[in-house]
Amino acid sequence: METTVQINPNSIKFDENYGPIINGEMVEPVYGYIDAVNASTGEVLSKIGRCGKEEINQAVKAARAAFPVWSNTSIEERSILLNKIADVLEENQERLKMIESMDTGRAIHEFDADYSIAIQQFRYFASAIFTYYEGASRPVQNGYLITKKEPLGVCAQIIPWNVPMIMTAFKLAPALAAGNTIVLKPAEDACLSVLEFAKLVVGILPKGVLNVVPGYGKEAGQALIDHPDTDKLAFTGSTEVGRLVGKTAGERIIPVTLELGGKSPHIVFPDVDIDQAVENATFGYTSFNGQSCILGSRLFIHDDIYDEFVKKLIERAKQVKIGPPTDRSTRIASIINEKQGKRVLKYFDIAKKEGANILYGGNRVTVPGHEYGYFIEPTIIEAESGMRISQEEIFGPAVTVTRWNDVNEVIKMANSVDYGLAAGIMTGNLEQALGTANKLEAGSVWINSYFNFQTGAPFGGYKNSGVGREYSKEALDAYSQSKTIVAAYQLPPAGFFK
Ligand code: NAD
Ligand code: MN
Repeated sequence: METTVQINPNSIKFDENYGPIINGEMVEPVYGYIDAVNASTGEVLSKIGRCGKEEINQAVKAARAAFPVWSNTSIEERSILLNKIADVLEENQERLKMIESMDTGRAIHEFDADYSIAIQQFRYFASAIFTYYEGASRPVQNGYLITKKEPLGVCAQIIPWNVPMIMTAFKLAPALAAGNTIVLKPAEDACLSVLEFAKLVVGILPKGVLNVVPGYGKEAGQALIDHPDTDKLAFTGSTEVGRLVGKTAGERIIPVTLELGGKSPHIVFPDVDIDQAVENATFGYTSFNGQSCILGSRLFIHDDIYDEFVKKLIERAKQVKIGPPTDRSTRIASIINEKQGKRVLKYFDIAKKEGANILYGGNRVTVPGHEYGYFIEPTIIEAESGMRISQEEIFGPAVTVTRWNDVNEVIKMANSVDYGLAAGIMTGNLEQALGTANKLEAGSVWINSYFNFQTGAPFGGYKNSGVGREYSKEALDAYSQSKTIVAAYQLPPAGFFK
């Protein structure tokens, strides 16, 4: 992918602090600020608002007030504004990528893909909205039938820290295109890029259409989902909080979109070129420092090639460069924070205790100048499919390897988890590839190329991985409701009710 000149991380100037953006302005939060921390060095980069009920009330009020006018703008106008947002994101991307790399601890080179996806997302919905309303009306005797799509209203959206700009784009683009107004709660661990982006975008949109309210999950997040005057909840993050969001939506009878965890199988057939397959598998489990709901975290390798494959997988792991996030040659950098770092390491202990075999890695390593960060080796664990290490989301650069012989058996193992977000298959045999893809319980299946995202293709989870689809036209359904209007040419004859 083409990249422009990298910005020097030392040249980045942050605002002294970032309050919530409400009704087009950055305002002072009532309860002050939270440190925004560089994940690998521990340096305080700036401060973000510690928002709570007060800010959420104001933000929902602003979004509510903006809704009547915004929902009546033409789709032409909304499309122009979405394209402007894409342009602004594109123009400012190098600076925003660097900010996001420092804030999250993820390797800078990965953000080329993140930002390309995010920019495309705004352009996609700027176009998709034109064709969304097409369609024939059902014929009606002596009258007309009109089915309209109307926006839902005020959308409450909560996003995690692993891919902040992708998440922002996934949430904002379809909601705005469909004519909704928004209160977005970014994650406390990484939202500087989102707030910098929001500062650029509020000038493009009418006041109150987009409000961004940072803060802790238990304060700002909880207040947002509990607020009685929103019309939609959208959440990406842990299954635990996702259940809470779903429960609240159920009580309030409003629609909900959930994108939760994953434990994606990656199945290797015996006909593959082993070097190529090892490369693809390594990319699949080390990207995002392993902090991704779509990580290819369970490798199922055919018995015929298992020994050679695993040997090469270990050799390849040794070459994955662990280093500072802002160094372009780094491939694995720092986990988001200490809590998550310790959680990953704890999973390796669990694995050992349940009899799994750590074939490579399993340790935290020190990167000079970044001693604060949790840098974790690419870790390869030989495990049985039923073990906790094979069932639960680790959210670190780790993969389990498991042997298989029979295709029906491997499909059964692949499906034997609570999650169903993504899956991978490697084989040159089309019948095997598509036959297996059909039987996998997963919202996205990538054959021969992991993380093969295509703008406009539905993305979302089966089973506990979530409810609803994003990234595609289906997201417009998730931010709209239908109204059927049936018009008869005239009143029925008098006496028809006898
Ligand atoms: P989390 O679910 O706690 O955080 C995600 C977002 O939800 C953040 O913005 C957070 O502030 C907010 N939040 C937290 N508690 C809330 C509440 N009670 N009400 C409303 N909002 C709330 O996730 P985490 O603690 O940062 O990570 C824990 C685990 O979640 C990870 O190890 C991983 O397994 C999973 N996770 C998944 C994704 C994903 O993309 N699906 C992203 C991040 C984390
Ligand atoms: Mn941070």
